[in-house]
Amino acid sequence: MTERNKNRLLDLLTQEGNNVCADCGCQDPDWASFNLGIYLCVTCAQIHRMLGAHISKVKSIRLDQWNDDQVEFMAANGNQAAKAKYELCVPASYKRPTERDCQVLREQWIRAKYERHEFMDVDKQTYLSGHKTGYLWKRLKGDSRFQSRLFVLSEEENVIKYYNKQDAKEPKAAIKLSNLNAVFVPDKIGNPNGLQISWLKEGITRNIYLYTDDGKDIVEWYNAIRHANYNRLKVAYPGSSDDELSSQLSRDFIKEGWLSKSGPRGVETYRKRWMTLDGRRLLYFQEPLEPHPRGEVFLGNKLDGYFVRDGLPPGKPEEPPNSFSLITPDREYYFSAESVEEQKSWMEALKAACDKPMYPQDKKK
Ligand code: ZN
Repeated sequence: MTERNKNRLLDLLTQEGNNVCADCGCQDPDWASFNLGIYLCVTCAQIHRMLGAHISKVKSIRLDQWNDDQVEFMAANGNQAAKAKYELCVPASYKRPTERDCQVLREQWIRAKYERHEFMDVDKQTYLSGHKTGYLWKRLKGDSRFQSRLFVLSEEENVIKYYNKQDAKEPKAAIKLSNLNAVFVPDKIGNPNGLQISWLKEGITRNIYLYTDDGKDIVEWYNAIRHANYNRLKVAYPGSSDDELSSQLSRDFIKEGWLSKSGPRGVETYRKRWMTLDGRRLLYFQEPLEPHPRGEVFLGNKLDGYFVRDGLPPGKPEEPPNSFSLITPDREYYFSAESVEEQKSWMEALKAACDKPMYPQDKKK
């Protein structure tokens, strides 16, 4: 490529809107779709390549050859122009993925934009209807198999329910939409479309683990849940902005992984537990995909006596490697991490949770 074309492209990359990836918003994109006229990060560029050249043609800004016409086209278009066209009517409840989100959310966002033109026509946004019915693979309780189950979402009834038998009159469970959280956990479930739904039942967290064969379908379920809750919150908090409401619609886990945990005295055998830090709650499971946690710890504010410390408090025998303690007014918890990095990362995450100010909705349940 001529030096002039290359410099022109690098200059375009510094312009407002082009300096972040058109699809995930991450910094310093250095790929482009030269028929859509947008600048992309390498991960989003790979997704564009999957869509096929009839939809998007991608190449590297620095490493590939660019002719004059292509550079002219890039100059005449760009990320802001594409946004105005392909994101004309993105619902406020729709989860716009960032670079931290999983592949299925990113891929479906990109397909929705450029393949299905979903945000150029509200009629294509079926997840806004307040109803959704279909089959999902659900992990059986106490069993590692997944079986197909009929799920029905009704915004009007504020519920998502599922049936164990095809002809069953009563659902196996009816979960209030306003009480649940949905979070993508592809690695944990072992499926790229893996979704976890959690809710509190009589004060105890209950989880179900789901996936669909089609990525579009699971993202539509996710956005249907978000949209129903958005409409409810919009009525309850009419003064809130769409951004504020949107941030309340689902909650990703802050951190998950294995730790070994001792008992309340710190002298008991350390047992391996799968830990999930979900907002102000630390849940521990014997296995990652259990319906109920073995226990959960509420994390209040440090001013109320919640804090994390390196190692075990003085007087505890035999300190295991990479150990740390979580102190609460009710009880002390003793952990051992698998590596120094994991210890550091868990301690930072727990400390950040205890440092956060408490809001009325944070109260211990
Ligand atoms: Zn990107």
